[in-house]
Amino acid sequence: MAPEKLYMVVPCYNEQEVLPETSKQLRAKYTALMEQGLISRESRIVFVNDGSSDKTWSIIQELHSTEPQFFSGIDLAHNSGHQNAVLAGLMTVKDICDMCITMDADLQDDINTIDEMVRKYYEGNQVVYGVRSARDTDTFFKKTTAEGFYKFMKVMGADVIYNHADFRLMSSRVLQELANFKEVNLFLRGMVPLIGFQNCKVYYERHERAAGESKYPLKKMLSFAINGITSFSTKPLKLITGLGLIMSAVSIIAFIWAFITKIVGFTEHGWSSTMCSIWLIGGLQLFCLGIIGEYIGKIYAEVKQRPRYIVAEFLSDVNEKEKK
Ligand code: UDP
Ligand code: MG
Repeated sequence: MAPEKLYMVVPCYNEQEVLPETSKQLRAKYTALMEQGLISRESRIVFVNDGSSDKTWSIIQELHSTEPQFFSGIDLAHNSGHQNAVLAGLMTVKDICDMCITMDADLQDDINTIDEMVRKYYEGNQVVYGVRSARDTDTFFKKTTAEGFYKFMKVMGADVIYNHADFRLMSSRVLQELANFKEVNLFLRGMVPLIGFQNCKVYYERHERAAGESKYPLKKMLSFAINGITSFSTKPLKLITGLGLIMSAVSIIAFIWAFITKIVGFTEHGWSSTMCSIWLIGGLQLFCLGIIGEYIGKIYAEVKQRPRYIVAEFLSDVNEKEKK
């Protein structure tokens, strides 16, 4: 079997410190894979410049002009954020590659995992998720916030793979399907599992950033988490409905309580009626908000226009004839 074309998509935002090292290591990895006959010689490493303000793009241009047989580059018009930069790369290569791996530019993801990913692809997997086995190099803060994030996402109804970020292999078939997801608020690690197909996980140890500093400060991480939840689940809206129901139920208890204290005669004049209305109206308001939320949730799902199903294979004699 002839080796297939592997494209790497690497988003870069102000990565001038680490790019020389990243490109060197990836080049070595590619050379080795090509010599082993695991990937075709037409495989490329694509750096996506996400509107960097430093020398990132000129480094990418330089890499491409000296070794076009290894390096390609995509320059985005402005900073669009990590997820959009990755998608830009994926959509650009979807028709020219057989398989594609997305990886951060900072070498935190272990590039030696690439071999295993490619092997898993040849075994028939359309998606191979890179999962972190250890987070020893992360600070305590990063580790707890990140792991808490995966757990919270699950509770909130967005099904993501535990400890998997955006280090993954996808076949061009999966990329074609991904192109049908028209949503603007991207959360790739939630979208890819929705596509389905045969998939598996490979485990790797996460390293420290090779150079430069994190482009994901706490503020961005929080907004990423909120985006992940609100882009994938209407559970928060359902929670409001539930809360409204509980409040309404509690208002009955408040009624009884207010009534008893009134009879016993411990209350100020007017206290019972005020208490009762606060609970009842509060509960009803939340409940109504929840119902409106349910409708908004439906509208939200409709406007996303996600594909309702994905056909994995079409078996038909007509189809067979066309192939020949
Ligand atoms: N990145 C990007 N656009 C942005 C922010 C980050 O393309 O607006 C890239 C960045 O260059 C890196 C990857 O996304 O390749 C992950 O960022 P980083 O390593 O800073 O995040 P962390 O690993 O600290 O969560
Ligand atoms: Mg990083």
